[in-house]
Amino acid sequence: MALLLAACSAPADIRDSRFIMGTLVEFTVAGADEAASTVAITAAANEMQRIENAFTIYGNQNNSVKRFNRSQVGASVQLPEEISTLLATALTIKRESNGAFDPALGRLNRLWGFSLPEAPTSPPSSRAIEQAMPPATCIEKRNSGWARLHETCMLDFGAIAKGYAIDRGIEILRNHGIANAIINAGGDIRLIGSHGDQPWRIGIRHPRNRGEVIQSLELQGDVAVVTSGDYERFYIFKDKRYHHILDPKSGWPANTAQSVTVIAKSAMQADAWSTALFISEGHPDISRNLNIRLLIVNNRGEITKNTL
Ligand code: ADP
Ligand code: MG
Repeated sequence: MALLLAACSAPADIRDSRFIMGTLVEFTVAGADEAASTVAITAAANEMQRIENAFTIYGNQNNSVKRFNRSQVGASVQLPEEISTLLATALTIKRESNGAFDPALGRLNRLWGFSLPEAPTSPPSSRAIEQAMPPATCIEKRNSGWARLHETCMLDFGAIAKGYAIDRGIEILRNHGIANAIINAGGDIRLIGSHGDQPWRIGIRHPRNRGEVIQSLELQGDVAVVTSGDYERFYIFKDKRYHHILDPKSGWPANTAQSVTVIAKSAMQADAWSTALFISEGHPDISRNLNIRLLIVNNRGEITKNTL
């Protein structure tokens, strides 16, 4: 009887979801009052929506990133502190990943068109790709702001902003007194605390078998788990798969991996590094000195690294 009462008095999980950043974002809060959780989730979701609006280069709404991308080559442009900070982080990761992660591929990403409302069904011409490729040094910090160094240099935070938004969402939940929660943005996750007296349980998707999990994890505390894969935004053209993660050196979709999962402290770092290592799967030495855990499925579907 006492056991039954204990089970009944444990509050149920509070769940809610929103469509943000082109994906279903699911919020789960454990061990908290329902009304307080609902208020916290709404505030977190609003913050994540604000971040999407501030960073997106798609849609009709104007923002500082779009204004920067239209700015005169060589001119110094002031960016809001939040954008300036994420840009500086992104450029550090570009350097650390030997250019695999590149936040200045906006022109090239737009040409491939995977984030456009009308998704393409065939690749652009080699000539168009060459013309959209930015030079290695593209964005420069000036005393008073940032400058584009070439007409092809356009910011695109698509591989890091979702992680940043998840981190901010968690921060907002915490500010509302929530200690146990998961934010899951289409498989990109950060979790805090635990699920009652159990760890949180999450599954990492199999890159080819829909609905199948390639690995389950039990995690608690404060952890981010982010996957970059070639199976979500892609098309097959003449028996070949074309997807949305581009190798900045070739201008074509990276072809060494099917999926790369990264566990890190922040979702922002995990997001950027899962994209970076998706491109440089052939150079695992890049990740040697990073404080991250990894699961790499190579282009033949073999697990070539697993430190999860
Ligand atoms: P997802 O958005 O599916 O979670 P990623 O985090 O890997 O996947 O981000 C992919 C997005 O990042 C692309 O849609 C594009 O906007 C942008 N992108 C593509 N290639 C690169 C790259 N090499 N470096 C940085 N951003 C990239
Ligand atoms: Mg990413």
